[in-house]
Amino acid sequence: MSDLFVLFNGYSKMSSDKEMLANCSCSLIIGQHNIIVDTMTAWDSDKIIKALQFHNILPNMINYVISTHGHSDHIGNNNLFLHAKHIVGFSISYKERYFLHAFDQGERYSINESVEVLPTPGHTLSDVTVLVKTNEGTVAVAGDLFENSEDIETPSIWKSAGSENPILQRKNRLAVAEIADWIVPGHGSKFKVTQEIIDSLRTQLVD
Ligand SMILES: [Zn+2]
Repeated sequence: MSDLFVLFNGYSKMSSDKEMLANCSCSLIIGQHNIIVDTMTAWDSDKIIKALQFHNILPNMINYVISTHGHSDHIGNNNLFLHAKHIVGFSISYKERYFLHAFDQGERYSINESVEVLPTPGHTLSDVTVLVKTNEGTVAVAGDLFENSEDIETPSIWKSAGSENPILQRKNRLAVAEIADWIVPGHGSKFKVTQEIIDSLRTQLVD
């Protein structure tokens, strides 16, 4: 088991017709390894360092940095964590060493007994979701596979946030909902997966 703490809830909103305000959800996993998922924009380093301090964690105590995909609001502070292995989408590296893994064949990457990384392309073609076994069940830190909980009722929300492969994204949204008890979406608050959500995502497959 690991503990999962959402350090910051992501959001996104239009501030005018040509400008959007957005930042991602940033999560900390504490267990056999210390893991940070999605490191916000490059201007958020002080906030992140402070939030980690609250959990008595210094940046050099982080073992893995995971960016669910390579967009600027999900990778901004990866270089705070230089003792960590970095997983950015399908790419796993430490310094100049790159570790090959068949995410593109659908293979999960296991970090420890309670944390694994699942390929969930759609928003980008190399998005990943982090599955964490916690004492409240399995939590999926899903990045922009889910924009927020409202995007289940209103799919235009995730589609207009950008989807490089909507068909794959629909399939992976259902697949993640079927294995998770909770979802941390890329730009909203953590929500519980209900049977209604699963049914609704299944109906949308054939839309
Ligand atoms: Zn995002």
